[in-house]
Amino acid sequence: MNVSWAKADAAPRRVSILGSTGSIGNSTLDLIGRNRDSYEVEALTAYSNVTLLAGQARAVDAKLAVIGDERRYAELKAELEGSGIEVAAGMAALVEAAQRPAAWVMAGIVGAAGLEPTLAAVRRGAVVALANKECLVCTGALMLEEVRRSGATLLPVDSEHNAIFQVFDFARPSAVERVILTASGGPFLHCQLSELKQVTLEQAVAHPNWDMGAKISIDSATMMNKGLELIEASHLFPVAPEQLEVLIHPQSVVHSMVAYVDGAVLAQLGAPDMRTPIAHTLAWPERIKTPAKRLDLTEIGKLTFHAPDEKRFPALRLAREALHNGGSAPIVLNAANEVAVQAFTERRIGFLRIVEIVDEVLQRSPMEQISSLDDVRDADRRARAIAVELSDLVPSQGDAS
Ligand code: NAD
Ligand code: MG
Repeated sequence: MNVSWAKADAAPRRVSILGSTGSIGNSTLDLIGRNRDSYEVEALTAYSNVTLLAGQARAVDAKLAVIGDERRYAELKAELEGSGIEVAAGMAALVEAAQRPAAWVMAGIVGAAGLEPTLAAVRRGAVVALANKECLVCTGALMLEEVRRSGATLLPVDSEHNAIFQVFDFARPSAVERVILTASGGPFLHCQLSELKQVTLEQAVAHPNWDMGAKISIDSATMMNKGLELIEASHLFPVAPEQLEVLIHPQSVVHSMVAYVDGAVLAQLGAPDMRTPIAHTLAWPERIKTPAKRLDLTEIGKLTFHAPDEKRFPALRLAREALHNGGSAPIVLNAANEVAVQAFTERRIGFLRIVEIVDEVLQRSPMEQISSLDDVRDADRRARAIAVELSDLVPSQGDAS
């Protein structure tokens, strides 16, 4: 595992949040707001929501606020006039924000757009709280290589991986038999294929248990999210792909489990509130209080589990195949999915078409070995081009926040 346990720094801990205006970013700032004496904020970044970013930067007295969309620089500058907060814009500035001297960095940008800033934080040896699963799916071994080289610490934020991190015996990995990722099954768990055809954007983003950004909510509805998480887990934990299982658990109370050779199964439980795993990484290796609802198992009464249905949700199978094939396959899977999800968000394609496009792009993309970040970028670019063609999409960068 790529975690060193000797990194605990003194309070106040200096932190930066990449993607501060998103769901993960807001939850992180909520926790910081409740623990003002323990944290100082170095940099906040967003793609386009200037007003929210400026308000956040003022509220926590950040040193730097960066907006990804260069056209909004003047607007951000005007909003932060007289605050003493530095302002910057553009991709290079996002990377510079990650390079600033914060001991802890939340990688909370969505999609492969988070790759360069996250890598910049890794390269200077920071403690990186990793929410941005797409960047690990794309870079995999290369990112872990950078982690080893720099001595950075990677702490998984994704609730499943954070759960596994808490119950995995890293000193005895051979004692682990299976790692079981739980999945809520999303809003369409009980829908028939014919019903899935008619699904609207509003239905797809309405997750039954978790309040999340649009992209991950749609990924949860197709179950591509769990597919990406399988690949993410294969990089974070020293287990073979065959040891990784997915189990549907609609209540999202058991966040994941590790099964040991002696038959023992360790799980981490909690109410579905991302502030719990975020707090675990923010205070790590200490713990801080959160306002998350306390788990009341008598109130819940019953926890249920069943096997996933890969016929209705083929994304899981595609992700498993990409994990098995390795090389450029996970990059192609992710890039095609990002484009197809965007097309669905813009109502250009139907719900079932998202995963069909991913499948077609995978079939049309030659398998390539990946040995550098340039290889990653090339595979990503090529897959996006095919997916754009299939989804009739005008390529764009970033989202509305
Ligand atoms: P979100 O859409 O709510 O927020 C995304 C953030 O990234 C925003 O601040 C946005 O401005 C920024 N951003 C988007 N495009 C950008 C670009 N091109 N350049 C720079 N910044 C850009 O997303 P979210 O739900 O907070 O998810 C963030 C990441 O965390 C995703 O990778 C997601 O899979 C992962 N994650 C989220 C949750 C959750 O509960 N929300 C849970 C587990 C993992
Ligand atoms: Mg998750």
